[in-house]
Amino acid sequence: MANVLVFAEVRGGDLRKVALEAVTAGRVLADLSGGGSVHALLAGDAGIGTKAASLAQYGADAVLVLEHAGFAQYNPEALAATVAQQLGSGTYGYALFSATAQGRDLSPRVAAKLGVGLAADLTGFTVDGGTVLGQHFNMNGKVIATLALSGTPALLSVRPAAFQPAEAPRTAATTSITSAADPLASRVKVVELKQGNTGKLDLNDAPVIVAGGRGLKAPENFKLCEDLADAFGNAAVGATRAVTDEGWRPHSDQIGQTGRNVSPNLYVAVGISGAIQHLAGMRTSKTIVAINKDKDAPIFKIADYGIVGDVFEVMPALIAAVKAAKAQG
Ligand SMILES: Cc1cc2nc3c(=O)[nH]c(=O)nc-3n(C[C@H](O)[C@H](O)[C@H](O)COP(=O)(O)OP(=O)(O)OC[C@H]3O[C@@H](n4cnc5c(N)ncnc54)[C@H](O)[C@@H]3O)c2cc1C
Repeated sequence: MANVLVFAEVRGGDLRKVALEAVTAGRVLADLSGGGSVHALLAGDAGIGTKAASLAQYGADAVLVLEHAGFAQYNPEALAATVAQQLGSGTYGYALFSATAQGRDLSPRVAAKLGVGLAADLTGFTVDGGTVLGQHFNMNGKVIATLALSGTPALLSVRPAAFQPAEAPRTAATTSITSAADPLASRVKVVELKQGNTGKLDLNDAPVIVAGGRGLKAPENFKLCEDLADAFGNAAVGATRAVTDEGWRPHSDQIGQTGRNVSPNLYVAVGISGAIQHLAGMRTSKTIVAINKDKDAPIFKIADYGIVGDVFEVMPALIAAVKAAKAQG
């Protein structure tokens, strides 16, 4: 039996979806290890503690609340010191982070401070006799490596959307903690956060992604992807690197090895060839639909549903069909 400390990500004063995914993954880990407790660490500006109830709803037995103006933005140095201090108490067998930009920055800092190992960007795990065995994609997803984590505490990060938030309500005790380092004295400061796609769903939070490639021929034709995303209602638009390099879409939309890793319930690939570097960022999507006029396009090898056809004929029909299905409820 081992307790799990989960780092719950906050952005703009609100919990991110990945925070609920991480608590869900933490719950799974605690249960697999024989029924330990899940403690979530929640850091932010004054008032962030009000979000503790959401973490309890998804399986946190306790919430450690760190409120300070110095945590209004991500504060790597003070957070790493505080998480490491909590883990140094000996209470925890495991610490779990999200493999997001923030988690990818924070988790190795904590691992270095404690001198312990970190299994990063896991898509799943099991526990065998107290040892975590994590699944990690190597070589752009061609190889799935099993990483055995030894040492205590064992640190791991889970890929966004690898775990869907699952409610497991608890009455969590909330404890206020203080920072292990002065958050206002950090040498690294986030001075501004520029939100791409203002008002739109973040790729990591969207259950449906409509991604476009060079097959769309011109930036204005991404309207087809926008329209399909709007028809679904809970979707975000992504792109290949060929498209973002052309300047058709912002780089924040790029999915793949050198872009975002996504794992939505539904991924619609529109005029995308399926290069290995693109697949690296989306192959864990639950259901993949591909539209391509080339029946031999590599994307069809991993697609659950393939439509061989011209995107300019298929997309309007698909948009109409989704709208009609939505209208019927
Ligand atoms: C180091 C490195 C890192 C990289 N990282 C990434 C990354 O993170 N993400 C990424 O996406 N790529 C990445 N790439 C680039 C990658 O190799 C591909 O070049 C890129 O993914 C191709 O994008 P695409 O599918 O949009 O374009 P293309 O490969 O040109 O494919 C266009 C597809 O559209 C189809 N098509 C054309 N017209 C139509 C039509 N009218 N109707 C239907 N289908 C049509 C074609 O049949 C074709 O399959 C990387 C490459 C390198 C070397």
